[in-house]
Amino acid sequence: MIVDLHNHTKLCNHAEGEINEYIEKAIENNTKYFGFSDHAPMDFDPKYRMSFEQMAKYENDVLDAKEKYKDQIEILLGYEVDYLAGHMDERVLHAERVDYLIGSVHFLDGWGFDNPEFIGKYEEQNIDEIWQEYFNTIQKMAESRLFDIVGHLDLIKVFKFMPNKNIIDIAQKALNAIKEADMTLELNVAGYRKPIKEAYPSRTLLEECFKLKIPITFASDAHKPEQVGLFNDNIIKLAKSVGYTQCVYYKNRKKNFIDF
Ligand SMILES: [Zn+2]
Ligand SMILES: [Zn+2]
Repeated sequence: MIVDLHNHTKLCNHAEGEINEYIEKAIENNTKYFGFSDHAPMDFDPKYRMSFEQMAKYENDVLDAKEKYKDQIEILLGYEVDYLAGHMDERVLHAERVDYLIGSVHFLDGWGFDNPEFIGKYEEQNIDEIWQEYFNTIQKMAESRLFDIVGHLDLIKVFKFMPNKNIIDIAQKALNAIKEADMTLELNVAGYRKPIKEAYPSRTLLEECFKLKIPITFASDAHKPEQVGLFNDNIIKLAKSVGYTQCVYYKNRKKNFIDF
């Protein structure tokens, strides 16, 4: 796929492989703009992310690779940042060398809802309420205006606990806030590797985003080199079938559009 902005490195302690292996896989896939957006450091759940001390190494390694591969592919530098009140750090939010920040919600009230270890919690609360709380948090994330890209918009579906209420009704305010904040939505294939077995977001949500003219980008969300570009045909097809013809990449926190 031509643009692929969400990829991890082993610095986050739950990914494998070397930076150059990810890039070589992306070149094989004819990617023009390939971004690393590893989990940013945070003083919450520090096991699954780099430390603050490792930020410089991460950025230097990606920028060295950018130089090394510049004739074959354009490498971009980002972070995937947890939207978690009280735990977002200026060193990340104002990291000077980044091209973009992805804002993601992985925690609701401290509950790591996409971690199978804590799956039991889905049975303890009304599922509609869980979904509403999730999208309320996405809305706040957009309203914070701290981020460029919305990470995996409907991650809350990961284990297939689906709401009884209409999903568009649950998500509408969040989608409006994303539009208002001029953010980009990623089409992320990680869902194909999870019980839900489909992209984030669903076709229904993507159609609504298209109506609102919210721009899109593409994301392997690779945690191993062999995941780079996996299922990319699916999301390209999905985006085209909804009506999208262009996608976005960021340089220096500015949007650029390209046909896909
Ligand atoms: Zn991860
Ligand atoms: Zn994520």
